[in-house]
Amino acid sequence: MDFANSKILIIEDEPDIIEFLVYNLEREGFKALTARDGQLGLKEAVSKQPSLILLDLMLPGMSGMEICRMLRQKTETRNIPVIMLTAKGEESDKILGLELGADDYVTKPFSPKELIARIRAVLRRSAEEVGTLPETPRIELGPLRIDPDRHEVRVADKLIEMTAAEFRLLQALASRPGRVFTRQQLLEKVTGGDTVVLDRNVDVHIGAIRRKLGRRAEGFISTVRGVGYKFKEL
Ligand code: CA
Repeated sequence: MDFANSKILIIEDEPDIIEFLVYNLEREGFKALTARDGQLGLKEAVSKQPSLILLDLMLPGMSGMEICRMLRQKTETRNIPVIMLTAKGEESDKILGLELGADDYVTKPFSPKELIARIRAVLRRSAEEVGTLPETPRIELGPLRIDPDRHEVRVADKLIEMTAAEFRLLQALASRPGRVFTRQQLLEKVTGGDTVVLDRNVDVHIGAIRRKLGRRAEGFISTVRGVGYKFKEL
């Protein structure tokens, strides 16, 4: 897949890192846009509609997490993939970032090669998702309704808020009732298989999904001890 001329928005405040990112992105044929804080970044994301956003977590003013949350809330930006730039060893940041809807993260310091590979993987995944959207059927099981085109989950007509990761997990499970998914397979649904994330992150996501589905639907997801999870056959 050719991503030449894809616009990448960099939201980052450190001039050295901006320069490093712009240089390496442009060398690969990407168009680099930059914003030095969250306000500017959100504005640029809405007006320029980049193919992908590189989001630094440590920014003056609005934090990267806050920006990520807002990007996911706005209709104009909710489908733009986000890669977070995190400091080394901030495991809790990574988990929180993925829960807020970031698609991937790279840990500083990173090599240009690693970063470009991550960007291409996320762009490829996002292009595939867009490409398959019109064919995605709605899933209806008892009181639960999943509408992939609208990215909506409803239980007995009540809209349930889900993060992007939770939605993908639930969709994967519910699209194959009775099939057992290992944690590794479910992780790949969330990350596309490019990221090494701890297995227990899946448990965190599943816990959150069950809580949100509530009494009438939480029992649809059952734990298969020592293996992973499956969706109940109705
Ligand atoms: Ca920074």
